[in-house]
Amino acid sequence: MPGKPQIWFLTGSQHLYGPETLDQVAAQSQQIQRMLSDSGRISTEIVWKPVLTDSAAIRAVMQEANNDPSCVGVIAWMHTFSPAKMWITGLDLLRKPLLHLHTQLNEALPWSTIDMDFMNLNQAAHGDREFAYIQTRIGVARKTVAGHASDPHLAERIDGWARAAAGVAHLRSLKLARFGDNMRDVAVTEGDKVEAELRFGVSVNTYGVNDLVEKVDAVADADIDLLVADYAETYRLAAELARGGERHDSLRYAARIEIGLRSFLDEGGFGAFTTNFQDLGGLRQLPGLAVQRLMADGYGFGGEGDWKTSALLAAVKAMGTGTGRGTSFMEDYTYHFGPGTPKILGAHMLEVCPTIAADQPSCEIHPLGIGDREDPVRLVFDATPGPAVVIGLADLGDRFRLVANEVTVVPPDEPLPNLPVARAVWQPAPSLSTSAECWLTAGGPHHTVMTHAVGAETLRDFATMAATELVLIDADTTPASFLDRLRWNSAYHRLANGIN
Ligand code: MN
Repeated sequence: MPGKPQIWFLTGSQHLYGPETLDQVAAQSQQIQRMLSDSGRISTEIVWKPVLTDSAAIRAVMQEANNDPSCVGVIAWMHTFSPAKMWITGLDLLRKPLLHLHTQLNEALPWSTIDMDFMNLNQAAHGDREFAYIQTRIGVARKTVAGHASDPHLAERIDGWARAAAGVAHLRSLKLARFGDNMRDVAVTEGDKVEAELRFGVSVNTYGVNDLVEKVDAVADADIDLLVADYAETYRLAAELARGGERHDSLRYAARIEIGLRSFLDEGGFGAFTTNFQDLGGLRQLPGLAVQRLMADGYGFGGEGDWKTSALLAAVKAMGTGTGRGTSFMEDYTYHFGPGTPKILGAHMLEVCPTIAADQPSCEIHPLGIGDREDPVRLVFDATPGPAVVIGLADLGDRFRLVANEVTVVPPDEPLPNLPVARAVWQPAPSLSTSAECWLTAGGPHHTVMTHAVGAETLRDFATMAATELVLIDADTTPASFLDRLRWNSAYHRLANGIN
């Protein structure tokens, strides 16, 4: 995407007020735009657009928004009363996410001096109701946020929505390369790639793993020298992997994979990929370290050919850009039912992203029982404690379903000296049993995205923008209410998809 993503700030009014008032409307809406920009809490650029007073101008700006790749979404605010018929054709055209900001410039009422001039310059209370009516009448998907522009919480909610919009925009043009197909006989990693491209925009295609091997074999030794030196500076490197160590060649081969994989992806314009340990062609190691480092740079990844999780990871990483908090591929691996609070230990064979590491990762080499290749190099660490969301994407046949769970990542109860992979330990809300019962009832996958960077509200905004079902398991969830929700959702989504 060219440059920083933009959100366009549109202000509605009407000609009835005359040029003097409209100048004031313009000045005040610029003040709102500056308050949001200057809050320092919104990651996208907020771009002010001239006040809109007729349907031709509204159609024109909506078409521009559709066509401009740097515009990821549109905020609309009715400063004054903007008779909403003028918005019908423009809203009908708009294909970018829409946020209806319900605010007014003035914060406190000037009780002793208030007159009709003040009332007429601060009438979004009914102006926005007229606008909301037409959005609902047309059935425009949007987020509505109400409050004063100086409120930091309001700015944060707009930022969350803008991040979701950036994720949708990233997904819209994402190209995903699969090295090999799905792991044989696995069901949940399958899915409809044509529907995925229509719904999300992501284009998913398979490449022979030996196309990658060609790139890997062609990497120059001098480039490997540089990358290996970088590893030694960035990680706690196991002595056997260090220069002069007896397994240094394995580290060099891991670097070779990283450089080859990166050049394959960059030359093809791919922002996400999958691997399959059953289909490694001429690769001597299952890619571990390379995958971990590419994820840290924002690439989506899924193991065992799991393109849905790879695409979702790329999107969530785009949403979390610049937060300084991490997002990773994850898999529910094993349980601790007690003593103490029940928790989940998540990991993968190798591929957990170091952006969620609590401390400096250690770079190690250990045997891997599957894949039938040389021992792979990998980064080992514990995940950063704190609130996170785990999210998975399943294909139900007639639609995609996102399943999410609010969780708290905690330190392991004890050190894990014999576990040679990166891992996360978490307590799912509201409890392990309710979370697992709901997740299983929803048909949620075992591969997920774990994020410290993006909250549940942003994921909900993302689901709305992508017109995709999201079921959230949180502190208020009960299995009974969750089951009801799944039933209602099935009816809703089948109706909403219509008859093709
Ligand atoms: Mn797996």
